[in-house]
Amino acid sequence: MCGIVGYLGDHKASDIILSGLEKLEYRGYDSCGIFFHDLDHDQYITYKDKGRVKHLMDDFDYQFTNHLAIGHTRWATHGRPNLENSHPHFSLSKRLGIVHNGVIENYQELTAKYLSDITFSSETDTEVIVNLIEYFLDELPIEESIRKTLSLLEGSYALLIIDTHDPSIIYAAKSKSPLLIGLHPEGITLASDVMALIGHATHYYPMEDKTFAVVSQNNDVYEYQIYDIIGTKLSPELLEMDLVLDEIGKAGYSHYMLKEICEQPSVVRKIMSKYLDSETCRIPEDVISFFMDATRIYIIAAGTSMHAGFVGKYYFEHISHIPTEVFIASEFAYNQPLISSERPLFVFISQSGETADLRACLTKIKERKFPTITITNVATSTLAREADRFIEIHAGPEIAVASTKAYVGQVTILAIIAYQLAPHKPFSLARELSRLAVAMDAIIDKRDYIGRIVSDKLTHRNCFYIGRGLDYFTCLEAALKLKEISYIQAEGFAAGELKHGTIALIEEGTPVIALISQKRINHNTRANIREVLSRGAEVIVISLTDVSESADQVILMDVHEMLSPLLMVIPTQLIAFYSALHLNRDIDKPRNLAKSVTVE
Ligand code: GLU
Repeated sequence: MCGIVGYLGDHKASDIILSGLEKLEYRGYDSCGIFFHDLDHDQYITYKDKGRVKHLMDDFDYQFTNHLAIGHTRWATHGRPNLENSHPHFSLSKRLGIVHNGVIENYQELTAKYLSDITFSSETDTEVIVNLIEYFLDELPIEESIRKTLSLLEGSYALLIIDTHDPSIIYAAKSKSPLLIGLHPEGITLASDVMALIGHATHYYPMEDKTFAVVSQNNDVYEYQIYDIIGTKLSPELLEMDLVLDEIGKAGYSHYMLKEICEQPSVVRKIMSKYLDSETCRIPEDVISFFMDATRIYIIAAGTSMHAGFVGKYYFEHISHIPTEVFIASEFAYNQPLISSERPLFVFISQSGETADLRACLTKIKERKFPTITITNVATSTLAREADRFIEIHAGPEIAVASTKAYVGQVTILAIIAYQLAPHKPFSLARELSRLAVAMDAIIDKRDYIGRIVSDKLTHRNCFYIGRGLDYFTCLEAALKLKEISYIQAEGFAAGELKHGTIALIEEGTPVIALISQKRINHNTRANIREVLSRGAEVIVISLTDVSESADQVILMDVHEMLSPLLMVIPTQLIAFYSALHLNRDIDKPRNLAKSVTVE
């Protein structure tokens, strides 16, 4: 998790770092810091603290000429978020400064072996890295000391290092955590995410695992060299920057999350334009052949993407007739099931394409030589690059930590793949997706009505979502969204399961939101609604028009029931949004979370 940015160039480095950190703050935001070279006085300045980038921007002095800087916004893994644990960290002599994204698994062993007489100033694993580099400096030049240190590290890292003896160089290294080098004739920017490179790079290079880079200034020219861990020079393949600043603004909305909820109809339309040609699906043939060859699909995902995976399982089994299983990535990585299928296909679903839990699975699956496909929103991400094939979601940058449009994008793609594989097409997907986008627009237009229901009825400290079949999967996603941003304890339940224990929690006024989109099981869920109503629950029903009945509070919508997860989820996202707004939560950056979960 976390974001790091570094800059060496003609412009004011501290400005580039601060605006970059602001763009990366969605990755981690419990503390932040900056380290830069003050050219006027030839000294180095460090500012860091617990709290947000805004504090770093507003409450410190940047009236210095500076062209070299590194910065960090943290998602704590080792030690509480406080001043001492904030990055940058320094070697004992203060010669070296470092920012780090990731987790060093063997930091205690390394401390015991090499650094037992050092008193550290923080609880972080990062401080071990920088002191280890300094330890090797006794015998080796700086580059070799860094490479020697890298060869000893186990775990994940993206690192930027400044050696105060030379203010014309930034050292960078990467393994498992993302790090990009952005190039521009006027300077070089390094960052964990392409977003921090917008406006500062014409081309960029996503560093490979276990590589090391030296970014330097020679007279007026900014250069970079990439090496593998033993020092062999590599020739990187550059990518063109195609993101523009507009794509990452709020476009007049109060919150990124609201903007992203409202963009969902356009996401569906965009995906249709990419992958559907009236009745013909256009997922590339080489990707589709992976699915055609499979006798069983294994979907591996986490959080919201896993909920998309459950819907995908339903589609693959009901539309394409391929048995499918869904696994929590962090479980699958270290507790693999018996893979009995002759020709399995592993499908990795991840918004960011950087999810460390998935990467751990991908590495193991590749060792077993099984075919792999990643479905992700970030075409340049690690999971996209490392799987045999990848499918881009095309949802556009998603900035709010709680995922909305990427989820809708994932489910839409899964529907298109399942449809393309279907021996008999059960309906016209192009027509139904177009109707879906219109229905999405209609429910988004009614968002104030949902806002009013929330302030009248959903002010309780807990909440249940109940549903059956496809609605159950939407309930899981709906409850997760509510927990993530409003901190209301919410559970998504298979409607028929509630009575087997959890109904004990229903009391006078407990909110229960029932999702009903499936005709076949409408009356079963209705029976479950009566059970909770009899115990005093405050019930809200979200249903498709053709299964509606009068109930206390009803939100009605229209769409093919197979595509209902894509529509039913929208009022639940709005419920989460307005609940969080009502409770005055930090909606786009909820506590304890980070968007791109790059630690296991
Ligand atoms: N492990 C480091 C720490 O806890 C870095 C965490 C991060 O990636 O933000 O400070």
